Formats: sequence, structure tokens, C-alpha cells
Amino acid sequence: MTTTLITGSNKGLGHEAARRLIAAGQDVWMTARDPEQGKQAADELGARFVQLDVTEDDSVRAAADTVAGQTGLDVLVNNAGITGVLAEVPDTTPENVRETFETNVFGVVRVVRAFTPLLDRSDAPVVVNVSSGLGSLDWTSDPERLESTFVNLSYSSSKSALNMLTSQWSKVYPGWRVNAVDPGYTATDLNGHSGTQSVQEGTDAIVAAASVAADGPTGTFFGREGARPW
Ligand code: NAP
Repeated sequence: MTTTLITGSNKGLGHEAARRLIAAGQDVWMTARDPEQGKQAADELGARFVQLDVTEDDSVRAAADTVAGQTGLDVLVNNAGITGVLAEVPDTTPENVRETFETNVFGVVRVVRAFTPLLDRSDAPVVVNVSSGLGSLDWTSDPERLESTFVNLSYSSSKSALNMLTSQWSKVYPGWRVNAVDPGYTATDLNGHSGTQSVQEGTDAIVAAASVAADGPTGTFFGREGARPW
């Protein structure tokens, strides 16, 4: 049975991805910063639970130890993410950008490093990085696209960085399938539920990337409708 861990799965896209992957027969570790919220969500869906804050070394290390003590790991879904402070560009401080990168970029590096030994023991290691169309340099510089009208320094650049991490990991770990996905604009707490898609639609690409075959694509960026331009 495929064992999967999803960061930030107490709510939103991570929660729905957990529900769908459990329904598809995967053994899922749900994780959350808040153990009470996370445990409750996991109990409701029939998942395993481990506390995990992607910004904390001790938390990530302890989570990796817990998983190693009970199961292996085949699929790692780096879903946890924040917008951070979305100030006007001239008002955005280095601290604002750093805060967003702590979760969306450095947090992912921390989690991948901690779970690398477990993934290496899997027959078919998979990493899914939950990115965004707002991280696409192509789309955000195309005046015809809505993504070009959302101008900010921290969130979009963090997702561009995540895309590059995806590309680099895919080259260093040719036996892994490492892909970035764009959920699309989805109603969750992240955007005050202004998104136009349901969480079902928003998790289509996450579920597809988490279910990729061992000889499937790696080093790609895609959404529910297909390939995304970097
Ligand atoms: P959400 O409902 O706000 O969920 C975000 C999740 O990340 C929550 O579980 C949150 O936990 C967790 N999280 C935040 N900081 C964390 C940390 N330091 N350590 C561990 N977990 C942390 O947002 P969402 O829309 O489902 O977002 C999921 C992913 O999709 C994000 O990476 C986001 O950038 C991406 N995305 C979303 C959209 C969209 O339209 N919704 C579009 C493109 C990409 P708490 O409950 O503790 O805060």
C-alpha cells in the first residue's frame, strides 16, 4: 500500500487531498501545526496523524522519526503554504518576504531533507510540491492572463522558487517523481474563500501528482487542465 504524508492537511486543499487519497486506497499521514485540530481531522478521515510545523527543525525531525517508526513513506505532498503579508510592493519589507519564504520555500527544503532517507527506501518515491500559477514567470508576465494583475513580492516569488526547487530535485533524484502542481484559484481560508473552484477541483492536480506512476513524469509543472508554463 502506498504511504503518503501531506503537510498542512488539517484544512483546505491538504484536507481534501487526504480525503481523496484515502478513498483511493493510500495510507495517509495527515499533519498540522495544531495537534488537536490535526488529530480531529485525521480521526474523521481515518488517517494517521503527526504534528508538523514546516518552519521548525525539531518538529519536522520528530515527525520524520515518528513516521519512520511506524511506516515507510512513498509520497510526500508539500502542501503547507501561506500568502504572508500581501502589502503593496513599495511597502513590502525583507521581513515580509522572509516570512513567506520560511514556510513556502525553506519549509519545503527542511521537510524534503528530513524525509529523504524514508523516500529513498521506497520503491517509487514521489514528491508533490503545491505551487501556484502565480509562481509562473510566463503567466505573470502575460498581460492577457489574470495572474499578471496580481502583483506582489512575497507569495508569487516564493512559488517561483518552489518551482525551481522542483526542477533541481528532479535532476538530483532521477529515481523519484518530483512535480510541481498548480491547484488553480480555489475557495479556502488562504484567500478568504474568494476562489472560484471547489476544493474537489483544486485537488485534481495534487491527487494526480500523488498518484503518478513510477515511470511517469518528473520535473514538470501542471494543473488540472494540463501543463503549466514555468
Ligand atoms: P489553507 O486552507 O490556508 O491551508 C493552508 C494549510 O497550510 C493549513 O493547514 C495551515 O495550517 C498550513 N500551514 C501554514 N503554515 C504552516 C507551517 N508553518 N507548518 C505546517 N503547516 C502550515 O490554504 P490552501 O488554499 O488549502 O493552500 C494549500 C496550498 O495550496 C498552499 O501551498 C497554497 O499556496 C496553495 N495554493 C492555493 C491556491 C488557492 O486558490 N487556494 C491556489 C494556488 C496554490 P494552520 O491551520 O495551522 O494555519
